[in-house]
Amino acid sequence: MIAAENAVVLMDYTVKDDEGNLIDTSTGQEPLAFILGMGNIIPGLEKAFLGKKKGDAFVVRVNPEEGYGERDESLVEIVPRGQFGGIKDLRVGMQLQAQTDDDLMVVTVVGITEQEVTVDANHPLAGKALNFDVKVVEVRSATKEELSHGHVHGLGGHNH
Ligand code: ZN
Repeated sequence: MIAAENAVVLMDYTVKDDEGNLIDTSTGQEPLAFILGMGNIIPGLEKAFLGKKKGDAFVVRVNPEEGYGERDESLVEIVPRGQFGGIKDLRVGMQLQAQTDDDLMVVTVVGITEQEVTVDANHPLAGKALNFDVKVVEVRSATKEELSHGHVHGLGGHNH
């Protein structure tokens, strides 16, 4: 079967930044499963699977605009340290959930002084080009249930 819109694709992947640093890999884990065209994965990677079949292996370089977006410096905020009073071991690199009006967002602590904490709400991969090394493990039709849920069930997907 050839991968097309609404097909289920299972892939093994390794992703590195432009400096060759490993960001993530499925090695040693289940393959990642997604429904093509549903936006389950970043657009620049998703479209690379169109027309591919089981066993195909290829490399894709995804620019930030088709990945996790460009960095937005207005998402970097300085907050009085007192607001973090309840958090032990506050340190640079720590990720915290912040409640906004109607959303839960994840921020990364990027700086700490005695009085202030700098947090960054950009996705950690924003602004980075991502180099994927992928292998197509399986291509199959999606079930009606998977299409209505908008995600894959079973291996590499949801179990519910
Ligand atoms: Zn489901």
